[in-house]
Amino acid sequence: MRKPVIAGNWKMFKTVSESVATALALKPLVANANHCEVIIAPVFTALKSVANRLEGSNIKIAAQNCATERSEGAFTGEVAAFMLKDAGCSHVIVGHSERRQYYLETDHIVSHKTQAGLAAGLTIIVCVGETLEQREQGKARDVVSEQIVGGLSGLTASDLDRIIVAYEPVWAIGTGRTATPEQAQEMHAFIRRVFAERHSQAAAESLRILYGGSVKPDNIAALMKQSDIDGALVGGASLNAESFAQIVNYK
Ligand code: PEP
Repeated sequence: MRKPVIAGNWKMFKTVSESVATALALKPLVANANHCEVIIAPVFTALKSVANRLEGSNIKIAAQNCATERSEGAFTGEVAAFMLKDAGCSHVIVGHSERRQYYLETDHIVSHKTQAGLAAGLTIIVCVGETLEQREQGKARDVVSEQIVGGLSGLTASDLDRIIVAYEPVWAIGTGRTATPEQAQEMHAFIRRVFAERHSQAAAESLRILYGGSVKPDNIAALMKQSDIDGALVGGASLNAESFAQIVNYK
């Protein structure tokens, strides 16, 4: 049985006090959500304060990025995965399409960040997904399988239970245009097959694959009915505690 994961990516929104206020508003609204893991990903500066205020709750904390380097050093502007762990994170998101698009992150970089996060003891949410152009050219599967193979290279069998894949078609992120449950299911099943070929059937069966792209309270239930959709990575609709809680409590 794969336990669903509902994760909120707050992107570059909210000051420290706004992040703490949203987290505290969310806490009672999801306190009974035992059917899934609940994760929020505030900005770096708010991680420690939010983690402190959520201690003992069922909400876990993710960072939205980490350095490729594993140890501290002269890498201006970077934050190492072990520092995120120290600040209270249990998860880190890597390879989000906004990082690939605006900060030119390649699969090679994603792979190094994944390895750094694993070495620090974090669970990694690795994002993959094709652009509209790639989908229209019939290349969606090739792009996604290349991202999975390149971004998750060098994993050992014991790393696999700390890997979560988020399928986020770029054309659905922040656009209000969601993949249909059938489109998402089709790609999730494909990702599971790629994972089975690269690792093992057992690893593929226990892999959690989240859908991301304009998930809202009114479309989460239909997405979650699909057999290979194990949760959601939510951007815009996670910024408000009530709407994110409605998504978490989709059942
Ligand atoms: C995201 O940023 O991961 C995302 C899916 O955003 P949105 O829900 O706003 O489309």
